[in-house]
Amino acid sequence: MNYDDFARLGLSIDMTRGKPAPEQLDLSRGLIDEAGTVGHLSRDGIDCRNYGHLLGLPEARELGAELLGLSPSQVAAAGNSSLELMHDALSFAMLFGLPGGEPWRKSAKEVAFLCPVPGYDRHFAICEALGIRMIAVPLGDDGPDMDFVEAQVAADPSIKGIWCTPLYSNPTGTIYSEDVVRRLASMPTAAPDFRLFWDDAYRFHHLTERRHASPDIVGATLKSGYPDRALVFASLSKVTLAGGGVAFLASSPRNIDWWQRHVSVRTIGPDKLNQLRHVRFLRDRAGLERLMERHRALLRPKFDAVAATFEAMLADARGVSWSTPQGGYFVSLYTPDGLAKRTVALAAEAGIVLTPAGAAFPYRIDSRDTHLRIAPSFPSLADIELAAKGIALSLRRAIDERK
Ligand code: PMP
Repeated sequence: MNYDDFARLGLSIDMTRGKPAPEQLDLSRGLIDEAGTVGHLSRDGIDCRNYGHLLGLPEARELGAELLGLSPSQVAAAGNSSLELMHDALSFAMLFGLPGGEPWRKSAKEVAFLCPVPGYDRHFAICEALGIRMIAVPLGDDGPDMDFVEAQVAADPSIKGIWCTPLYSNPTGTIYSEDVVRRLASMPTAAPDFRLFWDDAYRFHHLTERRHASPDIVGATLKSGYPDRALVFASLSKVTLAGGGVAFLASSPRNIDWWQRHVSVRTIGPDKLNQLRHVRFLRDRAGLERLMERHRALLRPKFDAVAATFEAMLADARGVSWSTPQGGYFVSLYTPDGLAKRTVALAAEAGIVLTPAGAAFPYRIDSRDTHLRIAPSFPSLADIELAAKGIALSLRRAIDERK
């Protein structure tokens, strides 16, 4: 089949966002079906229907601590979204400053963040919305280019942080190496209030039998003498329900106190009933891992289909490559220079909606115009097989047009 034949099929497949498929959401049906039967009393007799417990239900914090390998005092259990926690943390830093630091908005020079690229578009959207300047950092196979990072943060006190998705990065699937993690934890920074925004979104989301472990960044920063450097974000959004999970913030006691102080102005407490349901449903780490195995069984064939189709249709295309992630929700496809936008346009004409080219870069600027983010989780396997074919045909057409 060539591109024109494919376009005539008149398909309509949305590959834009890394959402769980309905079959994955069905795996957590128990959360909804049994919602009423867990009652409203926590283990310690807390009435979860009422206000309070700003840092979360004790057993939800304990579950978060078990999942993150930390102690409950270092973990806050919050609402349904970790992105919201990241937004809050940055907003609080902008408005009020981090412990011991000036409000960032008062900084003489516009504050900046390092952004490994390709990266998560919503991280960049937060920076853009809050007026935080973004500096792109090349992301290698083992994490951000640390020579570049170290030189930047040592020289410029207006650089206040770096976005890190240490395991199965969105959208490249990158796994940070131990050496990169050690350097991030221990590098000297000109800004005393520099922070690692450590988004451990894919900590539980393995696609192979090997469960790669997320690095213990809180421990590593403590060992390096920078106990407050890491703010860790984690989420059950893609474990249970994408719109109704539980998010966690983990950090040093000083940062947790700081967060509690500011969040107490914003809310009287999180949804403890949802936290209680999650504790009863997942129980512990083993319970979560059993559930993630079932996600893997649904997701793996979709990622395999993308890899097999690209291998069959693009292996001989010069300048084309793609990631084969061992976890997470995305595949990155690299076109020859200058062809990503054109490939997205051709795919759209053939009925496949892709994330706009450039989305994975600060200010949406992919200067070489080569990167495409493919999200295979949501459509059915049959649609994924078709979509991967359509993307490959669109890319080949874009290459041919140039000849
Ligand atoms: N971080 C990353 C890297 C993600 O890919 C996503 C979801 N696509 C999120 C955070 C969002 O998490 P939450 O649902 O907890 O807000």
